[in-house]
Amino acid sequence: MSCGEPHETDCSEVLDHLYELLDGEMPDGDCTKFEVHFEECSPCLEMYGLEQAVKKLVKRCCGSDDVPSDLRSKVMGRIDLIRAGHPVPDEDVTVGGPESPDRE
Ligand SMILES: [Zn+2]
Repeated sequence: MSCGEPHETDCSEVLDHLYELLDGEMPDGDCTKFEVHFEECSPCLEMYGLEQAVKKLVKRCCGSDDVPSDLRSKVMGRIDLIRAGHPVPDEDVTVGGPESPDRE
């Protein structure tokens, strides 16, 4: 996926490193690079905002910094859909997340 504008940092690179960025595991130099990209590229900024919201929600609900792996994979699946150019179902990924019992 792309907003059609050329960027110094590729959109896919930004999305690949979203979690490192959110977890603060990114070297300062790279952070700046991605921040510049978010300023130029609203689809990526939106994605970053979604991830941030999920992380905040998880922190509030579970008192933990760790995003449950099932929720993380849900979000990653959504990112993959967007990247593949598919329309994303208008479903809130945070619903039925950390608080709901595992019904497998
Ligand atoms: Zn982008």
